[in-house]
Amino acid sequence: MADLNLTKQEANEELSTLRDKLNSYRDAYYTKDAPLVEDSEYDKQYNRLLAIEQEYPDLVTPDSPSQLVGDVTLPDFNKVTHDIPMLSMGDVFSEEELADFNDRIEKNVGDEVDYNVELKIDGLAISLVYENGVLVQGSTRGNGTIGENVTENLKTIKSIPQKLPRPLSFEVRGECFMDKSEFLRLNNEREANGEQVFANPRNAAAGSLRQLNPKVTADRKLDTFMYTIVTFDDLEVTTQHQALETLEELGFHVNPTAQVTTGLKGVNEFIDHYGEMRDSLNYGIDGVVLKVNDLAFQRQLGNTVKVPRWEIAYKFPPEQAETVVREITWTI
Ligand code: NAD
Repeated sequence: MADLNLTKQEANEELSTLRDKLNSYRDAYYTKDAPLVEDSEYDKQYNRLLAIEQEYPDLVTPDSPSQLVGDVTLPDFNKVTHDIPMLSMGDVFSEEELADFNDRIEKNVGDEVDYNVELKIDGLAISLVYENGVLVQGSTRGNGTIGENVTENLKTIKSIPQKLPRPLSFEVRGECFMDKSEFLRLNNEREANGEQVFANPRNAAAGSLRQLNPKVTADRKLDTFMYTIVTFDDLEVTTQHQALETLEELGFHVNPTAQVTTGLKGVNEFIDHYGEMRDSLNYGIDGVVLKVNDLAFQRQLGNTVKVPRWEIAYKFPPEQAETVVREITWTI
């Protein structure tokens, strides 16, 4: 008898139900930008699936959400291949789970690890490719390997530089989001026009970026925070924090709150601080991301098929005034 108190047959049946349910939620969320359930409900069912799969690893199937990043791309867009996959991220919901993550890191790279702590911006991941300092391609994460080419739409976003001060050829990644005031403005406008309102700023950002007409994207005031340099060209960067400083010097919009802290004490303080003041920020955050600061350690730790081993998201509990999707009783 397994710890979850499930026979293998029961586990198999429950996994099959969870896979079907979660995959239909994923389709609505990633492909249609119109979620059927709250993120917290999705996370609850996803974690149940993970727990059963951990107990019975031979029941993991290729179509399990634990093996997939994002979802299919919309057929209307040209496709972009991400040579270095755009992965998802592991998440934790308590200080104990955070301490387990830290133990795993310390076991592999030594004690007192420096972390770069960042806010987890509630938007969608984007990739920007520059050649000789000129923006030549912008895309969504898609399924992690194949994304949607949304170059012209991304060019309408003011915080994305189309030309860099140096002739660099490289790829950077970050988050595209809609701030809370623009979200309210857009939803008020849609309601007045009898159109369906967006369930939350994340879905509004995704729906606004994945438009066939870049003019529509331009009319929705999207913003970005960039946080990853994927290929370094001739840049001298050895830590995640330096990567953020370099991005800022090059003219990208970088979230100003990131800080380096040794071990977990500072991480927990950062979590408490931003957990309390998240409502006062004009952009949505759903947690805090903890990244091993040293890029050499990051390379040493590597990735699983779905997530990097050197970073984790601490997810905040769902907000009080939460969106109730479908019934459209959203308030923020
Ligand atoms: P995720 O959104 O939990 O985390 C990974 C993403 O975080 C990255 O791709 C990146 O876009 C983003 N991110 C934000 N700030 C970042 C930072 N500072 N550094 C690095 N990355 C940062 O993972 P996911 O795979 O995109 O989605 C899973 C989550 O999506 C679930 O936990 C669930 O909450 C939600 N979801 C909800 C539904 C639903 O029906 N409501 C369905 C599917 C997924």
